[in-house]
Amino acid sequence: MHRYDLLVVGSANADLVIRVDHRPAAGETVLGSDLATHPGGKGANQAVAAARLGARTALLARVGDDPYGRLLLDTQRASGVDTDAVLTDDGPTGVALITVDRSGENSIVVSPGANAQLSARDVRAAEPLLAAAKVVSVQLEIPLDTVAAAVRTAAAAGTRVVLNPSPPASLPADVLVACDPLVANEHEAKLLLRRLPDGPPGAPESWAEGLLALGPRSVVVTLGAAGALAADRTGMVRVPGVPVEAVDTTGAGDAFTGALAWRLGAGDDLEAAVRYAVRVGAAAVTRAGAQESYPTAAEVTGR
Ligand code: ADP
Repeated sequence: MHRYDLLVVGSANADLVIRVDHRPAAGETVLGSDLATHPGGKGANQAVAAARLGARTALLARVGDDPYGRLLLDTQRASGVDTDAVLTDDGPTGVALITVDRSGENSIVVSPGANAQLSARDVRAAEPLLAAAKVVSVQLEIPLDTVAAAVRTAAAAGTRVVLNPSPPASLPADVLVACDPLVANEHEAKLLLRRLPDGPPGAPESWAEGLLALGPRSVVVTLGAAGALAADRTGMVRVPGVPVEAVDTTGAGDAFTGALAWRLGAGDDLEAAVRYAVRVGAAAVTRAGAQESYPTAAEVTGR
């Protein structure tokens, strides 16, 4: 019997957001709105997304011994995430400094803080936890050797691995091969395939094929409002998006991936899990914020 449906190994950040009329140029000072502080980081977001939907979820992460770390722990627990494996450092919690201008464009500076201290050793010490989960989900906002350790430890324990290569980086071949699926948005897919992010668009099907050729067992490419593509060696299916009034797409990909990982652990095949995750992603964009916007199972609508 597995104790957890999902273990997320990843980042936890405080997102510090100021709205501005225009983003400052070099040397410029601009006045902005009051500061808003939100729990964030891809790992923390995915864990909250899955737990809200009803998954038995645990998080392996590091936060600092400061108010941001406490905010992150509190929001994880309030969503039902098991935080026993979250380690607290003396140093600062990871922070993302975000300015959003009136057109919705943003500039972001990330200070990894405690996320940079999450080590391969931490992961190996948590081996029983990785073995106790049906699925382990990993992203790249923690050191790459920690990512590799998480993937290898999970694979050795027979635990399914879901990996979102964000921010994009090169991964060892054996890590890529263990992903089932590799989940990338259009931007990440292009960077992983070393195509220029603003180059000619190309068909998403060709990106999915290109990503599959990197070795993972399966691939999911998210396409924003257009939904997602699911592909493995038996074929490819395009799952259309759910038409909604998009208010804020922040964290939609994390909601999608948290939901996907949970459904795969629950026994759905890849297509069924992607269909569910597309609906969760759509629900998440209808409300402001990242974690604050994530739906409960009852709020996931459409078929
Ligand atoms: P990311 O947030 O990583 O950039 P996407 O933009 O591809 O990823 O969004 C992830 C998922 O969220 C999509 O597959 C879709 O299910 C949902 N989604 C995102 N934007 C919209 C939108 N405007 N309308 C409906 N669903 C959306």
